[in-house]
Amino acid sequence: MHSNNDQRLAQVVDFLKSQWLMHDTGVVAAGIWDGLNPPLFATATKHSSKNWLHAEFNVVAKYIHYHGGFLMPKEEIQIVTTLSPCTRRTVESRSSCSSILKNLGLVNIYSGVLDTSLGIEDNSSYRDIGINVEVTSDNYFKYVCKKLMRVFQEKRDLSLLEIKEGFVW
Ligand SMILES: [Zn+2]
Repeated sequence: MHSNNDQRLAQVVDFLKSQWLMHDTGVVAAGIWDGLNPPLFATATKHSSKNWLHAEFNVVAKYIHYHGGFLMPKEEIQIVTTLSPCTRRTVESRSSCSSILKNLGLVNIYSGVLDTSLGIEDNSSYRDIGINVEVTSDNYFKYVCKKLMRVFQEKRDLSLLEIKEGFVW
């Protein structure tokens, strides 16, 4: 029996699975719940040959596009991600997802795994930024989200699509 948060994470993982072999879909997904409207989901998407739009950025943009802004008190809004939000961007000058979420007042985040590629080992990096990131304790989601993170970090002589085709959920 999954917690409410893990039921949401399950929906985010299912959304990622449903988009998995589509061109320009990344290996991170996010969902947004506002306590009233049906949730919205997004994956990371390829923006240019080197740049990706991150899943959190995409799902917040989708929400604003659908609803014209945040109608609910922002404390009631939850962002659920397979991978915890980035705290810095290396490829381009775009703001990190953590600072975008903080600036929007969206500080309630639930993730499948902490992004250790950014050197994040516990929640304190996020507390310093001013957002709260809770991580799942469900064994399956810990396993699959860590595996997804490793796909993201791997630099192999395979295309992303080839890596995805070989991925076992
Ligand atoms: Zn990001």
